[in-house]
Amino acid sequence: MSDTAPHRTESPASTQGNSSRIDREIARRRTFAIISHPDAGKTTLTEKLLLYGGAIHLAGSVKARRATRHATSDWMEMEKERGISVTSSVLQFDYDGYRINLLDTPGHQDFSEDTYRTLVAADAAVMLLDNRKGVEEQTRKLFNVCKLRRTPVFTLVNKCDRPGEDPFQLLDDVEADLGVECYPVTWPITDRGQFVGVVNRRTGEAVLFRKGADHGQTQVQTDRYPLDDDAVTEALGSEIADRIREEIALLDMAGAEFDADAITAGTLSPTFFGSALTNFGIEPFLHTFLDYAPPPPPRETVDDVVHPEEDDFSGFVFKIQANLDPRHRDRIAFVRIVSGRFDAGMEVDNRRSGQKVRLAQPQTFMARERQAVEEAWPGDVVGIHDRGSLRIGDTLTAGRSLEFRDIPRFSPEHFARISVEDPLRRKHLDNGLRQLSEEGAAQVFYAPSIAGPAPIVGAVGPLQFDVLLHRLEHEYGVEARLERLPYTQARWITGSDAQVQALAAGYDRQLVHDSRERPLILFKTEWSMQRTIEKGADGGVEFHSVAP
Ligand code: GDP
Repeated sequence: MSDTAPHRTESPASTQGNSSRIDREIARRRTFAIISHPDAGKTTLTEKLLLYGGAIHLAGSVKARRATRHATSDWMEMEKERGISVTSSVLQFDYDGYRINLLDTPGHQDFSEDTYRTLVAADAAVMLLDNRKGVEEQTRKLFNVCKLRRTPVFTLVNKCDRPGEDPFQLLDDVEADLGVECYPVTWPITDRGQFVGVVNRRTGEAVLFRKGADHGQTQVQTDRYPLDDDAVTEALGSEIADRIREEIALLDMAGAEFDADAITAGTLSPTFFGSALTNFGIEPFLHTFLDYAPPPPPRETVDDVVHPEEDDFSGFVFKIQANLDPRHRDRIAFVRIVSGRFDAGMEVDNRRSGQKVRLAQPQTFMARERQAVEEAWPGDVVGIHDRGSLRIGDTLTAGRSLEFRDIPRFSPEHFARISVEDPLRRKHLDNGLRQLSEEGAAQVFYAPSIAGPAPIVGAVGPLQFDVLLHRLEHEYGVEARLERLPYTQARWITGSDAQVQALAAGYDRQLVHDSRERPLILFKTEWSMQRTIEKGADGGVEFHSVAP
């Protein structure tokens, strides 16, 4: 048994006592997102979490969903699938007394700013890695957003049912790549390449899996013994049992120390090994994750902080899903609740517009179904029907006057000049671009030109361009043309006008402005960007990957 094994027995059920309703509701909420590279197993894991949460009974629908997903390579098809993608944007389910809000981060070809923005509404992230591939590009990007926001990240090494990278090596690589420490809470037990169990360092137990015959469709049965118990030697044979005990001793001695504060600060990542396919290791992961992931925390406003248990309702819009029904300008705004109690139909103030907004027909998203909701609490996400009065980043409040900090705009990596053939349609184009950028569908920049500022659109994923063209045509009657530009990086820049002009001069870059007149430089290569950043630093010029 490990001395450093962290113990925490309080479960939401034990915190009930005399505390008030809001305190209890906050204590049992966990709001998180899964960050991963395509194919690491996010869909499979999501399905299994729902299975363990009792929200679905057979984990058999994964294949069906995968089939649809692969058929959605073009946007028109995606449009048809939208009903599905909305309901799976937020999945709410209960497990072991917890109320869980799992926020879906769009990935694959539909990787977009929404993927980043969802992390702004999450209180923790689960970083899912393929045991053969470790950290991949998309994981790294999303991890960096978590790091920027100091979001606690839990690591789950997936696909351990098949041989992968040596776990010591894998964790070394993660630490070196991401600059985070890993604390293995569970550790894989393998027997001649077979994944047969995990050591749970938190409980000091060996958890041995019983093979099920149903290919992961139900929860996995286990036998558990204290790691030093003879039963472990008996079950695994002395050679394997000794090896595992040695590995755990090594981790205890030379590995990272468990530190709850470091987890909360996002600098230490509790790490787990499992298989979403066979469910092996998923339960120990889920238990510990739920115990250590934070309940909804206070949130910074422009000049203060809001605590979740405050009486006054507050929340912010982090995502808008437009045109569920293309015949209407019908949109759903996703509101993350920060404080107070939400009641269906309540009237709130929109700080930006100064308007009153009635939060009518709110919905939550239970498993795969949308449901009408009567009340909701901090950590929850409600979907509000909106006819165009809400924008991403809007603060909604009842009572106390406050404004949350802006949701950051992340630097795009794909750029295109956008134009219309018919000059009479230019106004429509500008209008469409303005609205779509407010909604977060793409970012719009302006390059100086003789004919006035020429719009350039930027996206973090190329599919965003297809969506943009489609929506401009169908919602704004503008047939626009895109001409891809060779830039791959953008940085906002703060310095004097003369400094900005000097640094923006060169064949491999271009100076543009965003809609708020803030200057950016677009670069063709990472290399030239880095050189420019270094040069600028000498003169005190700062570059920002997120809008300052
Ligand atoms: P996503 O792209 O991250 O959503 O990944 P999916 O859940 O769609 O999984 C990608 C592929 O990996 C599918 O063929 C899955 O069956 C497979 N997969 C997912 N989890 C596991 C696992 O734990 N073990 C193995 N061997 N395969 C897995």
